[in-house]
Formats: sequence, structure tokens, C-alpha cells
Amino acid sequence: MRPFAYTRAHSVAMAVETVAADPAARFLAGGTELLNLVREGQEAPNRLVDIGALPLTEVRADARRVRIGALAPLVHEHPEIRRRFPVLAEAGGSAASPQVRNMATPGGNLLQRTRCAYYREVRFPCNRRVPGSGCAALSGVHRNNAILGGSEHCIAVHPSDLAVALTALDAVVRTRGPAGERAIPIEELYLLPGDQPHRETALAHGELITAIDVPATAFAARSHYLKVRDRASFAFALVSVAVALELRDGVVHDVRIALGGVAPRPWRARAAEHALRGRRFDDTARAAAGRAATEGATPREHNGFKVPLTERAVLRALSEVDGGR
Ligand code: SF4
Repeated sequence: MRPFAYTRAHSVAMAVETVAADPAARFLAGGTELLNLVREGQEAPNRLVDIGALPLTEVRADARRVRIGALAPLVHEHPEIRRRFPVLAEAGGSAASPQVRNMATPGGNLLQRTRCAYYREVRFPCNRRVPGSGCAALSGVHRNNAILGGSEHCIAVHPSDLAVALTALDAVVRTRGPAGERAIPIEELYLLPGDQPHRETALAHGELITAIDVPATAFAARSHYLKVRDRASFAFALVSVAVALELRDGVVHDVRIALGGVAPRPWRARAAEHALRGRRFDDTARAAAGRAATEGATPREHNGFKVPLTERAVLRALSEVDGGR
């Protein structure tokens, strides 16, 4: 590990100013991700700016929304979140392990880096880690990689569970950066790799996530997160599904379906939503949504299994959000 300077920020303004002034400075919150990256050599910061003492830990609820501070602890256990946004509580509770969940933060969770094995192992070429170096996953083992949204430069998948649930809830990420404050719809936070996979988010250097707003939509309360993984704990999703649904007299009035583990960012399955909206919520409509969820998929040699797995996971999540019927 290379030596680095350490600064404890006393205000959001100080944190933003300090990181923005140095291209090799990084924010440090729970450290469950960044310190691994520093240890393993994917990140080599000059300076870590510790934001752990900033007043960003509150969860504030009113009739219109819940605002989650970027450093709020154990959000998935918060009673308002559990009652009003089940999909968010379930996603947060399925992430990592109890020890990691105790230390991690919502803001850090959204900015996790891919678990692509070739990104994590610095001996291998990786366009995301070293622009222009190549992509070892394309010709290597890519069982865990993307079937949707990838490019010939990168087929990494985004690892966050929380981000998938927040995508299904139309959440908005609030930031403060050198250019001021912004409110970014979560779907616009993440970039597809295209020919620049090292550009992962729409955030500028020195731009800090301060909070996440979750609107009180009619579909949020009837929602569910299903995570399919190789083992029951401390594992990333092979496929995950976040569904949120508003039914009126048995007909789907509004719906959101977001997928995890299959694309470089949380993937909004709009074709699947389209297959449900305005239709009676029965087995036929759910099966059509399952099939539509993988529209446009381009599986490769080792990850073709994710196509039927995604379709069945969507079907099951839709059944469970309807009380298992
Ligand atoms: Fe790197 Fe992306 Fe290729 Fe993985 S898939 S090796 S992250 S460029």
C-alpha cells in the first residue's frame, strides 16, 4: 500500500473543497470498499478525506418522501423504510454481511466498484481500471458478467443491491460538488461503458453524495426485492429483481421493474413493465413480463444461464409481491 495523507472533514464544504483541489484525493466514509481498493492496488489516493463525522446520518420522513442521509446507518432496519419501501429494506438487508452492513453507508453503497475478477486483480488488462488496456473478461471467464448494456470494451456488472431497489423507486441522488448542489435521478447517475468504461458515474471529481430522496409513490408500498446468488450470505447477485407495483381492481396501474447482476448499471426493464401496465395481474401477464425482461440481451459463452434465470426471477418476484399467489 502506498502512503497517503489523511484529513478529517469538519463540514461538507471543507470535504468538497479538499477533494476537488487534488485529482488523487478521495472521500472516505465507512471504508468497506475504498480501503479494499487501496490495499489491492486499484486505487492509489494521495489523500483520504474522512467524511465520517459529517451530519449526514439522518433519515427524515414526511408525506411526500423519505430523505436518507448519505451516512445514515443501517437504513434497511429503519421502521419508516421497512413500512413504506419494503423493496429497499429487503435489498439493504441482503447486501454483504452483518459486519459490513454495520460499517457501510448508503452513499458508499451506490458507488461500489464492479466485482469483475479482472478489475479486482491488477495483473490483468482492464479498460475500466486502466483505459485502453483491453478487457480480459471478454476472452476469459465471464460467468458473472453482463448480458445487458455491455460493450466490446467492458461487460462488468454493477454490484449494488440498494441501487437496484432505488431505481425501482424513482429515487433522486442529492450531491454537493465544486459547482454547487445537484439532484440527479438515479437512472442518470450511472453511465453505460460504451468506449469509456472508466467513466462510471455522472459525478464530477470532488462531488459528494449528501442524501438520497425516495418519493412516496403509490407503487412503493407494494414492492419486493429478490436476490439470486451462489450462497445465501455475503455474495453478490447473479441476478436480482426489484419490483414495485400499484394495482387497481386487479389491473396493473403502474409498475417498476429493475434488475441487478446483469448489466453495468441497475437495469430498468421497461419492456417488462410495458407487458404489465394496464393488464390484469395474472399468470399470463407475469409470464409475458418475465420474457420481456431480457429483451436485447447479448449473453456470451459462460453467462447464457442468466437469460432464463432473469426471466424466472422476474416471474417469482412478481408472484411474491402479490403475496405468493
Ligand atoms: Fe475490466 Fe470491464 Fe473487462 Fe471486467 S469487463 S475486465 S471491468 S473492462
